[in-house]
Amino acid sequence: MMEALLADNLLAVSTIVPAVIGLGGLGIVFGIVLAVASERLAVKVDARVKQVLDILPGINCGACGQPGCEGYADNVVAGKAAPTLCAPGGPEVAQKIAEVLGLAVEAGERLVAFCHCKGGKDSEWKYDYDGIPTCGAAALIAGGPIACNYGCIGFYDCIAACKYDAFLIAPNGMPVVNAEKCVACKACVNACPRGLFELVPISRKVHILCSNLDKGKAVKDVCQVGCIGCTRCVKKCDNGQISMKDGLAVIDYSKGEVNIEAVESCPVGVIHHYAYQDPITWQPPVKEALKGAAEPVQSA
Ligand code: SF4
Ligand code: SF4
Repeated sequence: MMEALLADNLLAVSTIVPAVIGLGGLGIVFGIVLAVASERLAVKVDARVKQVLDILPGINCGACGQPGCEGYADNVVAGKAAPTLCAPGGPEVAQKIAEVLGLAVEAGERLVAFCHCKGGKDSEWKYDYDGIPTCGAAALIAGGPIACNYGCIGFYDCIAACKYDAFLIAPNGMPVVNAEKCVACKACVNACPRGLFELVPISRKVHILCSNLDKGKAVKDVCQVGCIGCTRCVKKCDNGQISMKDGLAVIDYSKGEVNIEAVESCPVGVIHHYAYQDPITWQPPVKEALKGAAEPVQSA
């Protein structure tokens, strides 16, 4: 009996010990393989990506052209994107990123969105539109219900797209960007089917409030406050500061402050000067200059 028990125990020991040794050995081998693999296959994360990410505003607005701040941080550290592309962060963020990367960066000016149209409720309409109340949908039906093919349709896709509550509506119904709140994320730029928005330096105080490229009479037929290409403003500038391009006045901002006489000479008040006009009510410029000229439509 005792002998049988001893034989069983010996059998068990002779079976278990090799199994334990085998498993232990395998464990050691796998451990070594994993250690080598994790060393060889490890994705090296550049510590600067985290530093850049910490600098960025983290709002994932996409203004940099990437789906989010993380993608931008990766690309900027990899040298695939410039450190200046984060519009909401502005020059300050660009400067800090450049410091992390050891780059020299020329600090730019903060940008804000600006809408180049003044038509609003004063625009003529081609037909009654009763479809989906968005500018994008309305623009698809015969070029949109308003007679001006370049002007604001007025269903406020721009305002709906803005996550920063950066819009006001002028008494004439036009959407007006509040520069204090605008982070230059470009959501309104991308949302407007008429392409009316542009990001401009915040210090820029004079703007052409029209995007219509048609000739004067065609403009006048559809909007009382559009640029009619009369060239009065051009004639008031002896340095080529304002010129005509495709029937629309354009300002060359590299030529310094825009001559106020040029602003005042516009018979339809389409040149907007913040120093002389309330950006919200958009009253036309100095009234005396308008005497005898075409009467611009007043805001309600
Ligand atoms: S999205 Fe463009 S067309 Fe529509 S309301 Fe805004 S500015 Fe006007
Ligand atoms: S969507 Fe708003 S915050 Fe973004 S650029 Fe336009 S106004 Fe500025």
